Amino acid sequence: MTTYWKPELIRLSLFAMVFAGIASIWHQFTVGLAVGLFIYIIWSIYQLNKIHGWLVNLTDDEPPEAPGLWGEIFDNIYHLQRRNKEEKSRLKATVDYLQDSFSSLADAVVMVDKRGNIVWSNKSAEHLLGLNYPQDMKQYLPNLIREPKFTDYFHAEVFDQYLEIISPANDYVTLQVHITFFGKRNKLLFARDVTNMIQLERMRQDFVANVSHELRTPLTVIRGYLETFQDFQVSEDDHFSSALKQMLGQTHRMDTLVKDLIMLSRLETVPKSQQPEKINIGDLAANICNELIASGIEQRTLNNYCPQDVFLLGDLDEIRSAFTNLLTNAVRYTDSDGTIEVSWKSDENGGFFKVTDNGVGISAEHIPRVTERFYRVDKSRSVKTGGTGLGLAIVKHILIRHNASLKIESELNHGSTFTCCFSASDVISNSK
Ligand code: ADP
Repeated sequence: MTTYWKPELIRLSLFAMVFAGIASIWHQFTVGLAVGLFIYIIWSIYQLNKIHGWLVNLTDDEPPEAPGLWGEIFDNIYHLQRRNKEEKSRLKATVDYLQDSFSSLADAVVMVDKRGNIVWSNKSAEHLLGLNYPQDMKQYLPNLIREPKFTDYFHAEVFDQYLEIISPANDYVTLQVHITFFGKRNKLLFARDVTNMIQLERMRQDFVANVSHELRTPLTVIRGYLETFQDFQVSEDDHFSSALKQMLGQTHRMDTLVKDLIMLSRLETVPKSQQPEKINIGDLAANICNELIASGIEQRTLNNYCPQDVFLLGDLDEIRSAFTNLLTNAVRYTDSDGTIEVSWKSDENGGFFKVTDNGVGISAEHIPRVTERFYRVDKSRSVKTGGTGLGLAIVKHILIRHNASLKIESELNHGSTFTCCFSASDVISNSK
């Protein structure tokens, strides 16, 4: 690095020495030295004033000329300023580019600072959320989107789920809103128009519900006639008799399928009961086990270890259906000499209803998918054993309605354990 202070020191010494030299003719060495230094200071102030004037005007002009260290300082400030300007325009170009791409999105995007005030919003935020940029800049977002559900969501600051709200700008539009944090607790809000999706979903639900209901009556009539025909059949070996038996079997299958479909669409459309019943787990498990044994479980062993003194808050019919499905599956997918165990455990983490079997088991890759509608690991086996492929989907829906979840542990050829995990607040034990 070049050192500029040396020439500057020489300049200062020259100033001082020249004046001190001249003044020493009159024996005034000190006065001359002081005058020399004073003139040097005046000159330095003049240079400072020049740079100040240039900085204040902030033009793109070259910096003023100055000798030595001062000239170097001027040049350095000039280069620094140019570099800053270039950096600023590069940053601005990047921000403009990002804002342009956000602006072209069909979804609304709103940037909010850590105090909840709007920093920026895109074009779609106008017609989806009724926000205007830049007029609404620095406005507190919940003051502009006044929907109580949104205000709660915004203030709770738990954004792991989407929120569905009616658009503040259009009552016919439903929005799916999601917020994420960025930077230092700033928020980025995305809002998507999901009106069509919701309409389609509603149409699908209505269609399934209507078809299932419409199928029930003709099925009942067909079944009635088939049973009457069967009652009049004389010989078991008769060709017609075997066809009749098959028809009855298939009608029964369709009947079960329709019942499951109706149950599923009821779970999707009917709001959950606000007044939960106190369900006696011991009684319920015993009833289901007795029904299963009565319907025939061959040589299988069915052990019920559910205690009598525990109660669950929920919808009795739904819980019965969920537990029955799990137990029916355990029988269905366990060899005729297998063992099935039903148990209940409750602790501070919640209540756990467990159905364990030592049957065929499920290999790991199928486990995440078995609660999907009509998903079967082994289609031929399910059909043979009378499964509809809807049982676990029903269980999952019922548990979701009870703020509970289904845990599946299984090993191929060794058996499975299905656990319904209920929250502790829904469990009442007599010891409480
Ligand atoms: P399905 O009516 O076919 O039994 P489910 O929805 O009840 O339909 O179950 C989905 C699939 O999960 C079944 O087809 C079966 O392959 C598997 N499954 C369910 N329960 C068990 C179990 N206890 N043991 C082994 N596999 C099971």
